[in-house]
Amino acid sequence: MLRTHTCGELSLRDVDKKVTLCGWLQRSRDLGGMTFVDLRDRYGITQLVFNMETLPHLCEAARKLGREYVLQVEGVVAERSSKNAKLSTGDIEILVSSFVVLNEAALPPFTIEENTDGGDDLRMKYRYLDIRRAPVREALLLRARVAAAARNYLTREGFVEVETPVLIKSTPEGARDFVVPSRMNQGEFYALPQSPQTFKQLLMVAGMDKYYQIVKCFRDEDLRADRQPEFTQIDCEMSFVTQEDILNTFEGMIRQLFQDVKGVDIGTLPRMTYADAMEHYGNDKPDIRFGMQLKDLGPLVKGKDFKVFDDAELVVAISVKGAAEYTRKQLDELTEWVKRPQLGMTGLVYARYGSDGSMKSSVDKFYGPEELAKWMSHCDAAPGDLVLILAGNEGKTRKAMSELRLEMGDRLGLRDKNTFNCLWVVDFPLLEWSEETARWHAMHHPFTSPKPEDFNLLENDPGKVRANAYDMVINGVEVGGGSIRIHDKTVQQQMFSLLGFSADEAQAQFGFLMNAFEFGAPPHGGIAFGFDRLCSLFGGADSIRDYIAFPKNNSGRDVMIDSPSPISAEQKKELGLH
Ligand code: ASP
Repeated sequence: MLRTHTCGELSLRDVDKKVTLCGWLQRSRDLGGMTFVDLRDRYGITQLVFNMETLPHLCEAARKLGREYVLQVEGVVAERSSKNAKLSTGDIEILVSSFVVLNEAALPPFTIEENTDGGDDLRMKYRYLDIRRAPVREALLLRARVAAAARNYLTREGFVEVETPVLIKSTPEGARDFVVPSRMNQGEFYALPQSPQTFKQLLMVAGMDKYYQIVKCFRDEDLRADRQPEFTQIDCEMSFVTQEDILNTFEGMIRQLFQDVKGVDIGTLPRMTYADAMEHYGNDKPDIRFGMQLKDLGPLVKGKDFKVFDDAELVVAISVKGAAEYTRKQLDELTEWVKRPQLGMTGLVYARYGSDGSMKSSVDKFYGPEELAKWMSHCDAAPGDLVLILAGNEGKTRKAMSELRLEMGDRLGLRDKNTFNCLWVVDFPLLEWSEETARWHAMHHPFTSPKPEDFNLLENDPGKVRANAYDMVINGVEVGGGSIRIHDKTVQQQMFSLLGFSADEAQAQFGFLMNAFEFGAPPHGGIAFGFDRLCSLFGGADSIRDYIAFPKNNSGRDVMIDSPSPISAEQKKELGLH
């Protein structure tokens, strides 16, 4: 080894030891008689001291070293006179007796320190320098710890990691596929997996019983903020299980991850039906770190000649704690906020419950004090609270109120990143209607089984059929989702036909799965966790980018290797592409 210790491990216990360290020069300070250098590696930073009086030549040479030079340094550990409590090595320094420049470095394009002056693009272009910075490095180390903890848990529970292929077949369900042209089969294409879904089901038919894989998945979707075209899942499947078994197994996993990685006990996960989540929180991934639940005001407000409420499919309210004193300006600003095209509301109605007990609303013309009192009690509002009301088309209004609730939660500081509230959302609908394609789509995917008790609705009222499908939600983020699968060929065929596949299409696309179901498919089910998202949640970060070593930017580009990029005419010809 070129070193005896790392830059993160020496302490007062090591005083007087002769050591050799290797690392990068983070910064140096020349104080005349002494030159101080911070030497950095993956493990930390150690202060080096070059003394002008005792070793003038060495000190002179040290002054010439540039940022990010790679050094090998020999010296003796000494106690520091002015200690730095922020560094693990802050009690000591190295009195350098000799050093070797292992490599020089060009001037880095941004400062490689905790806080950097580099913008996003520059950081991504020089990601290898960005990763030298503590926050990015720590994010990647955290990711490795989460992966190791997941592997430990799953291995202990008897799961086997099986790799599934990356070059597979394009299918029409779900998002768009990335496709890869085949040179040996010209005019034909592989697709990259959006998930190993069908393979893990085939592994159950194959008798593997408990499968997992930490696996890359690819979806060619329009990139919304913080989406990556390639991402990682902890993908799992089990045989001979009920939904209950799956929920318990993976609740166990997430509890273990929190324990190992954060030292936090998250306790037992509550369960909420999809219907309740939609009613009380306005979405299927409720952030239950705070209340402020949605209240349907319709029955209380209709028929009083206020056209906006009378014409609305939904009139919904939340009560915001302690916000009765919001100024007119703040309320106008909130009104503009709900009118943004993303939410598209036409306005915001409010009612103040003053701390003196008075009640006043922006629609006083239509509703008197007695009515306001009913609203307040229906919304669980107390003196000092502000009730915010939206009205309009059902789906849009519920969504807007759900966003407004989260916004108010943010403004009131109720969404603390170090508080973790996890839950299961269960009983999702099997299907959702798409106006765009005028047909039913699988809400989860076409392999999800309907609840046996809703089976009779499949023919005549498919929208009412609930699925054996579940999501795990943490702090308003869907971190995992899965289902009990169909394992019967006839039911699977029926499902494909409901989704608008002809028998021939279904056979062409998914024949391999339905054929497999003829050879003794066990009842099975599974789940997949969004691994990048889970890591960013553990790290308390909003973005998943820093938890991915080499992420793509918002246009799906890798600006470091400059990809995607054109290929040569020759390459194209070879592939049969013109
Ligand atoms: N394959 C599904 C997904 O990627 C998860 C599952 O059903 O296990 O969302």
